[in-house]
Amino acid sequence: MKCVMCGKAGLKRTREQVTYNEVAVVEASVHVCPRCGERYEGFDRVEELSQTVARQIARRAERLTPAEIRFLRKYLGYSGRDFAAFLGVTPETVSRWESNSSPKPMPLSTEKLLRYMAMNDRPVSDYGLDQAGSSEQASYLLEFKQQKGTWAQS
Ligand SMILES: [Zn+2]
Repeated sequence: MKCVMCGKAGLKRTREQVTYNEVAVVEASVHVCPRCGERYEGFDRVEELSQTVARQIARRAERLTPAEIRFLRKYLGYSGRDFAAFLGVTPETVSRWESNSSPKPMPLSTEKLLRYMAMNDRPVSDYGLDQAGSSEQASYLLEFKQQKGTWAQS
């Protein structure tokens, strides 16, 4: 491995605890250039790591920080714009929730929904949640019948 900044070969490898996406401190392998001091941080099994971090953040007792909200949103695969559209808020509102400099508190109900989604990490389309609430109230009741031993909508 060569240093991208100065081209020197023979970087020194160490194991260190480093900050991960502003939301956790994580063991990483770090290669340091002995000439210019440039650092290259790498995480093992990143997919599993992000899932573990997301699930633990979703369970913590303290209110979410702006960085944690941003991390969970990205973990769920949402752009800021798509997340705003899903929740029925403006993209500016999402920006404020995630802003370190001028944060606006996320409503607790929304925070709990975000946590719940991160704990289950199934795409919201699996639940039909991306469509839920997107049109006016219905004027008819849903109808159900038993089919082959299970309840099904008819
Ligand atoms: Zn270098």
